[in-house]
Amino acid sequence: MHDDENKKSFKAGETIMKQGDEGRCAYIIEKGRVEILIDTRNGETQYLGSRGPGAMIGEMAILDNAPRTATVRAIEDCELLEITKKDFALRLENADPILHMMTKVVMTRYRDMLQRAEITGDPPKLNAAEDLELTYAEGSSAVETIKITNDFESALKSAEISLHYQPILALDSGKVVGFEALMRWEHPEKGFISPAVFIPVIEDSGLIVKASAWALKESLMALTRIENRAGYDHELFMSVNFSSRDFAADDFVESVYETISVSDVSAPQVHLEITERLLMGQPDNAKETLAMCRKAGMSISIDDFGTGYSSLSYLHYFPIDTLKIDRSFVKDMLNNDGSAALVKSIISLGKSLNMKIVAEGVENKEEAVMLRDLGCDMAQGYYFAKPMPEKDVANFVTQNRRIEF
Ligand code: C2E
Ligand code: CA
Ligand code: CA
Repeated sequence: MHDDENKKSFKAGETIMKQGDEGRCAYIIEKGRVEILIDTRNGETQYLGSRGPGAMIGEMAILDNAPRTATVRAIEDCELLEITKKDFALRLENADPILHMMTKVVMTRYRDMLQRAEITGDPPKLNAAEDLELTYAEGSSAVETIKITNDFESALKSAEISLHYQPILALDSGKVVGFEALMRWEHPEKGFISPAVFIPVIEDSGLIVKASAWALKESLMALTRIENRAGYDHELFMSVNFSSRDFAADDFVESVYETISVSDVSAPQVHLEITERLLMGQPDNAKETLAMCRKAGMSISIDDFGTGYSSLSYLHYFPIDTLKIDRSFVKDMLNNDGSAALVKSIISLGKSLNMKIVAEGVENKEEAVMLRDLGCDMAQGYYFAKPMPEKDVANFVTQNRRIEF
């Protein structure tokens, strides 16, 4: 057997799992074929069937600590994708409660059925499930999702995951006032994977919590280095994205606070970016959590503002410092009266609630000028700067002490 993180290879003839052994993981067959065998009580070995690409094997191990119910042997050279017990437990823990219960019940019954078959000596028919598994493996993103989750965990420990920083500037002075930290993944085989692809996947598995903690720590250390190199006359802030998973964790505030305390950055330099969806999904928890963050000195920004919920009544319910106008409105602002009206309203709404406004996705001079004229405080976008690696940030800041437009 050959190990490569969560991918396993077996040569034809090798035993992949042995009946009676402890099971620690399930596998999805990527390549090759296996046979499934059980030893019956009277000492015979019975052939239950074979499985090929797309099929799942060893799934019972994921439910409990009972021994493997069958022996699986490679009949061709095989490549298998591993689903660990730990990963599954994390997903189940995070699943909808009904789904959680249903999965447990169905899997327990399935285990019962296998045990009964073993007692009666009448082996269960496994072939019916194979069609279903194949359809599932082909038609759904489940396999890709598992691959991304598996790969991400090790990527986070390597240099494959990095942060890029996009400057945010004050529209009245043209000075850089802060950055947004954005995650990047350079996969060794797949190349660049967009955060729009992997963030939702790692949110689902709960891995986002580790990723966010890493991003916060890394970006605050980078901010200190950038400030030292750029020698700026004012403090810069770092805006970091957080998801609802992060907020749901019991120790969220402590963990963020701890990271800030061990860094050289002060709490007011840390901006937490969250979406409206997060606020509406867990209003009571979010209100309490945000109040604690605020008390500790951090600043709260609402990301993609205007795309989530139409009700504005929630705005004064939460302690919010900044609204970030979503890119889609800024993009259409110059040729769509509706979008322009929306941008104007968000700016005046924010002002009347004593909030700062950041416009996202500013791509040209006309937009920048219009936003400044409307009284928008800050902007970020390709017109000023794209997200860039840390090594380029200090140069950018020193060469652009004041951006004219
Ligand atoms: P977002 O938080 O809305 O981030 C802004 C996105 O807009 C970034 O995309 C940025 O590169 C892009 N952008 C900035 N200026 C312009 C512009 O002028 N024009 C256009 N067309 N795009 C612009 P990116 O880096 O691909 O990130 C996509 C999304 O992935 C982010 O959207 C955010 O939701 C998520 N994301 C990225 N990094 C993290 C992270 O560390 N944690 C979490 N929770 N989410 C992240
Ligand atoms: Ca953001
Ligand atoms: Ca955004």
